[in-house]
Amino acid sequence: MTDDRPPTELPELSHDRDLLAKRDQAVEIAQGWAERICRGDLRTREAWPEHDEKALAIARQQVAPIAGNDPRLLEDLARACNAGVAAWWVRRPMQRRIAPTTWRLETAPDERERCMFVGDGDRCERRPEWRIGSEAGLDYAYLCGVHLDLVRQPGQLAEVIEQPG
Ligand SMILES: [Zn+2]
Repeated sequence: MTDDRPPTELPELSHDRDLLAKRDQAVEIAQGWAERICRGDLRTREAWPEHDEKALAIARQQVAPIAGNDPRLLEDLARACNAGVAAWWVRRPMQRRIAPTTWRLETAPDERERCMFVGDGDRCERRPEWRIGSEAGLDYAYLCGVHLDLVRQPGQLAEVIEQPG
């Protein structure tokens, strides 16, 4: 009996093709996952433990629905997913970097010369570029460009400060 079926694809090629097709999905899953977990104290974490066994185990659960029953694909997608979280972590927005309880605003006589933001006990050394809120209501702040988005409430007015000279 002759076998007239087309030759089966090399497993290596088929694996690479599946991985390529699904890697973007894994990275998308990573982004949603990172946004869900980057809260509270986790925010202060410098880097995502990409190669940590526990992180990999959770990544496998995250990508399991798109990996089918292919254990090798599952492993590679889990790694891609973890790498995606690590990449997101590096470029995460300022609001996701500092737990809200670890900063305050310093109202000192030099508030117009120096950003009022104090994070982990260290006063920001940049010149303020923005003023938010109203001085009449005493809910105002002079802030540098980096800390503006962190302190500013949604919808709160921000004005550029005119620099003397
Ligand atoms: Zn600042």
